[in-house]
Amino acid sequence: MVNIFLIIFIARCYRTNSTLARNGNDDLQKCLSSLLPSSIRTIYPCSTLANQHSSQYQCEHFNIDQLSCIRGGRISHFPAVIVYAMNSNDVQNVVRCATKLNYIVNARSGGHSYEGYSLGSTYNNIVINMESINYIHINQHDGTGTFGAGARLGPIYYRTYQYNYTINAGRCPWVGLAGHALGGGHGVLSRLHGLLSDNILEMKAVNAQGELITINKTHETELYWALRGAGGGLFVIVTEFKIRLVKSPSIARRFSSLWYPNATKLVMQRYQSMLFHYKIPNFSNNLVLEMLVSNTHLEISIFYFGIEFEEFNKTVSMLLAKLPTPRRTHFDEQDWLTFVSKAAEYDVGSRDLQWLLLDRLAYPTFDFKSKHLFYDRPISSPNLDKFIDALASSNGQSVMMFVPWDGHISTISVNETAFPHRHFKFGIQFMIYPNNKQHEKQQMNWLKQVYLSVYNDSTKHSFINYIDRDVPNWMNVYYHIHQKRLHNIQHIPQGSAWDGTIPSHPMGQFFSSNIPWDGMGWDESLVPWDSHLFFF
Ligand SMILES: Cc1cc2nc3c(=O)[nH]c(=O)nc-3n(C[C@H](O)[C@H](O)[C@H](O)COP(=O)(O)OP(=O)(O)OC[C@H]3O[C@@H](n4cnc5c(N)ncnc54)[C@H](O)[C@@H]3O)c2cc1C
Repeated sequence: MVNIFLIIFIARCYRTNSTLARNGNDDLQKCLSSLLPSSIRTIYPCSTLANQHSSQYQCEHFNIDQLSCIRGGRISHFPAVIVYAMNSNDVQNVVRCATKLNYIVNARSGGHSYEGYSLGSTYNNIVINMESINYIHINQHDGTGTFGAGARLGPIYYRTYQYNYTINAGRCPWVGLAGHALGGGHGVLSRLHGLLSDNILEMKAVNAQGELITINKTHETELYWALRGAGGGLFVIVTEFKIRLVKSPSIARRFSSLWYPNATKLVMQRYQSMLFHYKIPNFSNNLVLEMLVSNTHLEISIFYFGIEFEEFNKTVSMLLAKLPTPRRTHFDEQDWLTFVSKAAEYDVGSRDLQWLLLDRLAYPTFDFKSKHLFYDRPISSPNLDKFIDALASSNGQSVMMFVPWDGHISTISVNETAFPHRHFKFGIQFMIYPNNKQHEKQQMNWLKQVYLSVYNDSTKHSFINYIDRDVPNWMNVYYHIHQKRLHNIQHIPQGSAWDGTIPSHPMGQFFSSNIPWDGMGWDESLVPWDSHLFFF
């Protein structure tokens, strides 16, 4: 079986590679060196054949995995060049060369795409590393922040907190602002303030002609709509975001309870009842009820970011009254920055928060695969049984995260931004951390079983920030009612070879040249080309 899929993979690679085959990247190197300052770092990896025999430049042995936080070999191609842009002018110049010479360009900001898509999805592309465009300016008078696209969440949390502000984003401090915000950006403050993309006021971006454009509610209005929620890698390369900041919570409280697997079904049912029937939405949006389920235990956490502690206490009492007696409970409270830092290092203790969020240069890489589904009704009892059975057969590390998606998110009109999932109650992230290569395939299959056990109760939609290359019908899954509108955005420069539509796989490519993309296009029924290698 493996061999059959390897053959399919190799055959497909060969076709793709041959379509994109070039005698060399000499013209590209010539163009870049004529337009970019000599101080700009450019790497031509030796792993790309076209770089190996050039007399014009020296290729470099470069470990491409360093550019992605996802370990595990999901990146199966090598770029022609990686350019370390220092400012938007550099981005413009790279794009000019790419358009002139028909190269595909991909931006890499934090490198945290779940599938490594900041490295693109095709051979001999150009990767622009945006990491150094990472400035952070806070305007405390109007409560806005202006950020270079390569800034990471940790430094933004740290800097904004100095002014009692924060951003309503995810907690992992190493995630890059650009990919995160363009795809939505969901976090513990989302019930209170919506998604990060809901607070984007303006963007500066480079289009396929190499022009620096301003995108806001009066300029490039379709792009302003699309770039708030449709994901990175589409239409333009964003170089700067202006974001409405939110007040940082004065305190973050958390109460968590833990049960062993014998209570799994009851706890899962009661958790869902609380979300659907006890009308958590009637509680304030300061409350968040998360549940983690694994084959060894379950944990429900109530987070509270308000100051009316009565509300928090009532919810805790209700949780304890409705659920079987937990094996363990835990309560803690901390200031917002310490709370955020815990995602960086669980045992913050006496650690210096500045070091954790701002100064630490090395960040971890992850070996995981994730799938995700939204729900607008509780999972039925028979499917909960199937889910629990599947869970019990796990032979590796895994966790299923149940996270609410209601609150302020659903008060915003669905047509306001490209993010279409405004009426769902919760989402589940199904995650495994393969511990060894040999068992990876088996664990992937197991993940699929767990996912399928509760698939039919879901809305069958998912969140682009949790992108999964194995999803068929991805346009519908990620974009739902906005497919057509996104499809119609033709941000094509006059006379350009770029086909101007959304690329063939979300987050796959910024703009493509007239090189035909092998077997993809807009047929929703197609699964991304390399999916077979990593699944089944
Ligand atoms: C450990 C971890 C925790 C996470 N937690 C959360 C969470 O709590 N909430 C949440 O919503 N998401 C979360 N995510 C998902 C994360 O938001 C997305 O993977 C996001 O796309 C990462 O952005 P990035 O800039 O780091 O990634 P990259 O890999 O650099 O980019 C992601 C995509 O955006 C494109 N892109 C990058 N920069 C630009 C740019 N300047 N202009 C245009 N396109 C660009 C890339 O080409 C790629 O297609 C998490 C991911 C990880 C790995």
